[in-house]
This record gives sequence, structure tokens and C-alpha cells, in this order.
Amino acid sequence: MKKSVKTRKVSGVESIEPAITPLADSPVIPRTSKVPPIGAPRLDIPQGLWTKCPKCSELLYDKYLDDNLKVCMHCAYHFPYSARERINSLVETCSFEEMDADLRSVDILSFSGPSSYPEKLQQHEKATNLRDAIITGVGKIGEYRVALGVMDFKFLGGSMGSVVGEKITRLVEEATDRSLPVIIFSASGGARMYEGVFSLMQMAKTSAALAFHSQANLPFISVLTDPTTGGVTASFASLGDVILAEPHAMIGFAGPRVIRDTTHADLPPGFQTSEFLMQHGFVDLIVDRTDMKRTLVSLLGFMSAPKASFFETQDFNAP
Ligand SMILES: [Zn+2]
Repeated sequence: MKKSVKTRKVSGVESIEPAITPLADSPVIPRTSKVPPIGAPRLDIPQGLWTKCPKCSELLYDKYLDDNLKVCMHCAYHFPYSARERINSLVETCSFEEMDADLRSVDILSFSGPSSYPEKLQQHEKATNLRDAIITGVGKIGEYRVALGVMDFKFLGGSMGSVVGEKITRLVEEATDRSLPVIIFSASGGARMYEGVFSLMQMAKTSAALAFHSQANLPFISVLTDPTTGGVTASFASLGDVILAEPHAMIGFAGPRVIRDTTHADLPPGFQTSEFLMQHGFVDLIVDRTDMKRTLVSLLGFMSAPKASFFETQDFNAP
């Protein structure tokens, strides 16, 4: 049996000197230093408790960051926010009834690439615990019952395929039937290339459903979050009676590089941000995430004339 010999290094001398001679069968315990190597995580700080703000570099305690709806307490940087987190931050407890939760995409074009479309879907389902890039349902925000759709960028870049389009259409149709306002939070890279023309058809379908909703004199509030681009910007996201945006969100159709290469012109500073679009009249109001619920409640109150039937729980005779 080969003997292991524990060695000791002498500073400045390249020598291997037996420190102790281990017994033949005793296990050799590797020598550990109390000082961890540079760059190694510190053992006394549990991982996953702190997050560094990419904008101001402050270390943020995760619990406080979650309590502040993932907005940096020092510089108001808005961290990415999942659909479920956003729904939890908006609706009243236990009031949200999800719709079409099991609707799943099919590989209608037999898309092939480095990995197939079904494989991609499976990976993202596992990683995000979502079935597709949007959650829809009916819930209460403040005292108002609303049809709420929230996109999640983590699922295939929030791309709009048949399922996203169908879920939005069903949500809007349900809202029209029940005389409810619609609120949709967008976060999307655009149409889903894996479904080709079927993705593009969702632009017309969702827009048509919203046209019927609008004809019934019901409000639609569109909230643009970082990023909202492509076919989503070019369809339902731009059709809100009121269009809100989170601060510093990227909002556009094509990316800035494509526009620069096509127009051969320099783009103005701040191009395709919420602030730029508000200055140019595309966005009505920029709202911090921490202020979003209060703003929505205020808008719903403003847009709901007393005759509107979604004013279900309001007691008009109350003093
Ligand atoms: Zn910060």
C-alpha cells in the first residue's frame, strides 16, 4: 500500500519535509488554513442573503430588497421582477384566480436548431416553474376587480407565441364579458421565432380582442417594464387607454443597433428609454414599482364612472 506523507512547506525553501509520519492505515487529513484564498466566498456569511446593486454597487440585504419590491433602497434601480412576484405585490391576498394555467405551446413548425423547441420549452418550464411567458387571471387590486396579465421575461425572453397570444385574448374576452378593466404588464423580447407566422398572428388577435373591450367602454391600462420590444410593443402593449412605464425601462420595436445601421444616423441620448418615450408622448406616466399599486388604484377610480359595473364593491351611498 502506498503511504501518504503529510508535508510541511518551509518559507523560501523548496523542500518536502515530513511533518509527521502517519500510521499505515490512518487517514490523512488535509491541512486547512484559517485564511480562505483571495476571491473565495467567506464561510461565515451565508450565501444568498445579499445582492449587489448593479447601478450603485451598494450591498443590499435580500429581505429588505424583497420588502421594497426589488427596488434598490439607495438609487431606485429596478431589479428584474418575476410575474408571480409582481402579482403578489399588486393583488389582494387570495383574490387572484389564475386562468388557463395549463395552456402549453406545441411545436407546430417542427423547429430545429441547436436544441428543439420542445426541449427549450421544457428547460424554461423547469427553470421558471411557468408554463409560458405570461400569467393571466382575475383578481382584486384595492377594491377593484380587474383582469390582470403579467409577462415574465425569464421564460424564453418573454416572447409572444400562440399561448401568450391566446391567454391574453381569453383574458380580454373574459374582461369584456364580465365588464372588467384590463391591466397587462409587458416584459418581452417580441414575437417568438420558434412559432414563426403563428406568433405574428397573435398581434392581430390580441389587438382585435382589445378593440371589442374598448367598444364596451372598459378601460385598459398597459404597463411597460424592462424590456418591452418587438411584436408586443407593436400590438397590445401600445393600445392602453393609459400607458405606464417603470423607470429606465428599455422600450422599443427594433434594437438600437438595427435602427442605427438602417437609418445611418446617430441616435439621440436616452433613446428607447421610458423617460425618452414620455418626453415624446408615447408613455403617459413613469411610475416607480413601489408606487405602482397606489397609482393603479387611483387610475381605476378615475376611469370608472359610477355607472361602470366593475365598480362592484364600491358603496356610493357611503358618506
Ligand atoms: Zn442601487
